[in-house]
Amino acid sequence: MSKILIVDDSATMRKILMRVIRQAGIACEGFMEASNGSEGLERLNAEAGVQLVLSDINMPVMNGIDFVKAVRAQPDRGNITILMVTTEGSEAMVKTAMEAGASGYVTKPFTPETIRAALEGIGK
Ligand SMILES: [Mg+2]
Repeated sequence: MSKILIVDDSATMRKILMRVIRQAGIACEGFMEASNGSEGLERLNAEAGVQLVLSDINMPVMNGIDFVKAVRAQPDRGNITILMVTTEGSEAMVKTAMEAGASGYVTKPFTPETIRAALEGIGK
């Protein structure tokens, strides 16, 4: 078990995601939160044990695509799971996110089952 990092500029959405992860029965010893990609990188670098990140795409300062690229650019972050959770459901955006290094993709609104299925699909 490890901590899960939630990156979203909406505090309400972060709360919803934490609740949904618990409802989905995903093993987790605690949550960390960040309101944009830049903060997300800071949190990741402060905590070695994060194996799962859920990230929004549209955020100020650093968006989710640049965040994923920055995480994957770190030598020891190749195997961390990054699930995008976003309103941006267009095929082009999904492709952009996956090419940037995202592990999977969920469109808002979502249910606990949607999140669980997405994580099972990428082997988490
Ligand atoms: Mg947003």
